[in-house]
Amino acid sequence: MKIAIIGAGAMGSLFGALLRKAKADVRLLDVWPEHVEAINENGLRVEWEGKTRTISARAFTDPADIGIADLILIFVKSTQTRVAAEIAKKLADETTLVMTLQNGLGNADTLAQVMGRGRIIAGTTSHGATMLGPGHIRHAGRGPTVIGMWDGPDNGRIERVVDLFTTAGIEIKANADIRKIIWEKLLVNVGINAITALTHIKNGRILDLEVTRDLCRTAVEEAATVAEALGISVKNDIVAHVYHVAGATAKNRSSMGQDVDHGRPTEISAINGAVVSAAGKAGIPVPVNQTLTTLVETLQAHYS
Ligand code: NAD
Repeated sequence: MKIAIIGAGAMGSLFGALLRKAKADVRLLDVWPEHVEAINENGLRVEWEGKTRTISARAFTDPADIGIADLILIFVKSTQTRVAAEIAKKLADETTLVMTLQNGLGNADTLAQVMGRGRIIAGTTSHGATMLGPGHIRHAGRGPTVIGMWDGPDNGRIERVVDLFTTAGIEIKANADIRKIIWEKLLVNVGINAITALTHIKNGRILDLEVTRDLCRTAVEEAATVAEALGISVKNDIVAHVYHVAGATAKNRSSMGQDVDHGRPTEISAINGAVVSAAGKAGIPVPVNQTLTTLVETLQAHYS
C-alpha cells in the first residue's frame, strides 16, 4: 500500500517514521524545503526516551513527484486542511482513502467536501510529537489511535488500515461511533489548550487553582452541552477525564501553547471556535468558549 502523508511536521514525521520502520511505502509531503532536504539527506531523526533513532524516508515538496497513493494521511494543522485536501485530490484515484487524525472539528467534513464522500477515515491519536528542527522530532508520548469511516460503508477498508498500522507497532482500534471519539478528544482540547496558551502555563498547572479548574470545567461543560444537542453523547465524567489528561500531561505545553510561544497561527477556530459556531446554530449560549476564542484570536492577531 502506497501511503502519502501531507504535512510532515511533528505528527506526520512520527507516523511516517513508525510506518517506515515496518518497511511501508511512505512518501512525505511538506512545504518546508529545509525539512524535506534534511529527511532525504539524513533520514528522519526521532528522539524517544533520550535515544535518537534514524529512519530513512522519502520526502517531497511537489505533490506531482508522489503520484497516486492508496492511503493519504492528513497531518497539517487544521487551518491548512482545505489546502491539503486540494493537494490530496491530485494524489487520489477513485479507490484512494484519506485519513485525518488531526485535532479539532471540521477536518473530516472539509476533506469530504473536497474529495467526495465515502472515502474519508477520521479519528484521534494519543501519540504526541514535537518538532525539534529540520528532519528531527521528539516522540513525546504514546497512546491509542482510534479510527472509523466518517461516512459511507466500511467494506473492510478500516480493517486493512488497522492491520497496516498494527504491523507498524501502532496501537490502533476501530470504532463505529467516531464522532463521539472526536468530540471527546475535542473536549480535552477545549478544556486545556486555550487556557494554557493564554496564561503560558503547562497543562498540569490547570489543576493548581480552584478558579482555573472552574474555568476549564465550565468550558468543557458548555461544549458537552453542545455535543448533546447534536446527538453526541459524551462520557458522563468528561470533566474528570479532562482533569485526568491535564494531570497525566502535567509537564507538557499544549500544542496551542506551543503555537503561541512560537508566534504561529493556532487551531482555535477548530477547537473552542468550533464549539462557538456549533452552539450558535443550536441556539446555546457558550460565553466561556466565546471569550477564550476571542482572546486567543486577539493574541494571535498581534504577535510581535
Ligand atoms: P506541525 O506544525 O508540527 O506540522 C504541520 C506540518 O504541515 C508542518 O511541517 C508544515 O510545514 C506542514 N504544512 C503546512 N501547510 C502545508 C501544505 N499546504 N502542504 C504540505 N505541508 C504543509 O503540526 P503537528 O503538531 O504535527 O500537528 C498536526 C495535526 O495533528 C494538528 O491538527 C494537531 O492538533 C494534531 N495533533 C498533534 C499532536 C502533537 O503532539 N503534535 C498530537 C495529536 C494531534
